[in-house]
Amino acid sequence: MAYEKLELLINGKWTQGTSDKSQDVINPATEEILGTLPHASVADLDAALASADKGFQTWRATSPLARQAIMDKAADLMEERKAAIAVNISRDMGKPANEASLEMDFVIGCLRWDAEQGKRAYGRIIPARIPGQRQMMIKEPVGPVAAFVAWNFPASNVMRKIGNALGAGCSIIMKADEETPSAAIAIARCFQDAGLPDGVLNLVFGVPAEISSYLLDSPIIKKLSFTGSTPVGMLLQAQAAKRMIRCTMELGGHAPVMIFDDADIAMAAKACAATKFRNAGQVCISPTRFYVQKGVYEEFAERFTQHTNEMVVGEGINDGVQIGPLIGARRLDVMQDLVDDAVSHGAELLTGGERLGNKGFFYKPTVLKDVPEEAKIMTDEPFGPIAPMSSFTDFDEVIERANKLEYGLASYAFTTNGNVANRLGDQINAGMFGVNHFGIATPETPFGGVNHSGYGSEGGEEGITAYQRVKFISKIGV
Ligand code: NAD
Repeated sequence: MAYEKLELLINGKWTQGTSDKSQDVINPATEEILGTLPHASVADLDAALASADKGFQTWRATSPLARQAIMDKAADLMEERKAAIAVNISRDMGKPANEASLEMDFVIGCLRWDAEQGKRAYGRIIPARIPGQRQMMIKEPVGPVAAFVAWNFPASNVMRKIGNALGAGCSIIMKADEETPSAAIAIARCFQDAGLPDGVLNLVFGVPAEISSYLLDSPIIKKLSFTGSTPVGMLLQAQAAKRMIRCTMELGGHAPVMIFDDADIAMAAKACAATKFRNAGQVCISPTRFYVQKGVYEEFAERFTQHTNEMVVGEGINDGVQIGPLIGARRLDVMQDLVDDAVSHGAELLTGGERLGNKGFFYKPTVLKDVPEEAKIMTDEPFGPIAPMSSFTDFDEVIERANKLEYGLASYAFTTNGNVANRLGDQINAGMFGVNHFGIATPETPFGGVNHSGYGSEGGEEGITAYQRVKFISKIGV
């Protein structure tokens, strides 16, 4: 099966762009070149901006029911093309093809939910102070959006933004990730083939900082949505501030998992290992700090390590593979540094701790025990297949350790004590908290962080609201 043809989408036309710049897209499992991705020129970005401006006028004037019909048709096409899209995600991103297929199911679910929710942009009638006066609040789409997303979920990071924007009635310029472009292009083709009006969705690639600076300097852009690391999010927010562009920021995380003595340890160890190594740990809500109460610490560590050793690492398109490569060679160096640093601080390496093979960017799934809080991995988001664990004595100790970082994206606990679960829910500094499971991302629920993990949820009612603005209208005499 051929890899996706790599193109830009500007004003409803697929194009190679007018710059003479491009970059190779690499398969991280084999290091082979999959294709050459064109970069947008300034003229291409100007065309995308003009087209998003025009597309916005068309789309906002399209009824929510008509919008839903097009979005649902695009979702149908994604269902039809899912298998091929998933294989190409596995090729350029590295994750197992069955994980990529589940990602596409999520994408389709988000799109259908946003299409439906777009019909519910309800306002409010507010009782007036003066007889004959009518006061109302209405919600409007905010305007053309500029969006930038990370490579780890090359389909769902893209759809979270497109679905919310289109559902709310906005147009969007998506700059998807250059290392993993196939899914964004395939998704955009589904929208085009479903009859989305020209300019409502534009897709560009290039040098990320150059594109974001250019787009955020344009008076056409009215909203920025970013999924990526905290430092880049802070930089983009500062740029957006110059034009008072509103932001949604989905940034990094370092999720604590608190496992209490009363938990079902066999279940917890299995769920923790399976979730930790999903997408080779390259997940913003990945469990990344395992705090285990003293009474069950040894048992948990043993069971977790056993599950880890059973994991099959390999090229994602092969049957049975559970862990693919990391996105690039640069991540291998980061993993090694985190492991070496933890060991130098006294941690015990239970398994893994080194690169696997010398072709492709594979790193062995790794378990570290007795990791002190001073080790870098307890503060730096690992974004890879390393599980650091440490024991705790009581509730007060663990909540303090869980809350000690500036991050606040996901958090988890395993306990059968409802009182403990409730107190944790009240006290944890995080945008999301899962108890006895990890399934905290669904199309219909708000997803997002606090503090350095960002703000502005995607998903659920809140996802669409972030792309709307409020207008108050007060009338007397009519
Ligand atoms: P990164 O911030 O370096 O890059 C993310 C994306 O932004 C990439 O496509 C990159 O090319 C692009 N980018 C970089 N600089 C840019 C700029 N100045 N302007 C516009 N785009 C720019 O992050 P990374 O390390 O490659 O990705 C992983 C990070 O993303 C992790 O911190 C992870 O937690 C976070 N993430 C968060 C979520 C969430 O929903 N909260 C989801 C996925 C990933």
